[in-house]
Amino acid sequence: MRGRAVTTSRSAGDTPEERLSAFVTACGGMTRESGGETICRCPAHDDENPSLNVRLADNGNLLIKCRANCTNERIVAAIDWKLRDLMASQQPKARRANKTRDKKVYGSLEAVSYTHLTLPTSDLV
Ligand SMILES: [Zn+2]
Repeated sequence: MRGRAVTTSRSAGDTPEERLSAFVTACGGMTRESGGETICRCPAHDDENPSLNVRLADNGNLLIKCRANCTNERIVAAIDWKLRDLMASQQPKARRANKTRDKKVYGSLEAVSYTHLTLPTSDLV
């Protein structure tokens, strides 16, 4: 079930655009846009005058910058994200995927040795 869901319907945050949208939504929504940057309220401080600039880098990473100088760590922590969630190469689901990948590696190694063991036998028979 889960494997099928991954291939057919991607959850929010899989593409850079979706992640940007999810991030801005988590910050309370976009307040305005200027020069390709999305401005929203910084969740890490009492932000009455929206001062958090969010934009997508060419590599798909989310770049965030609070004009009140909140650190990225504090900003993502305030909306329950991790820093790695901002990066295109490591999606929010990466932690869970790592475990699955380990199992897959072991599985395929087993399959390889089985192939080596069975092929000569079947040739002889
Ligand atoms: Zn801030």
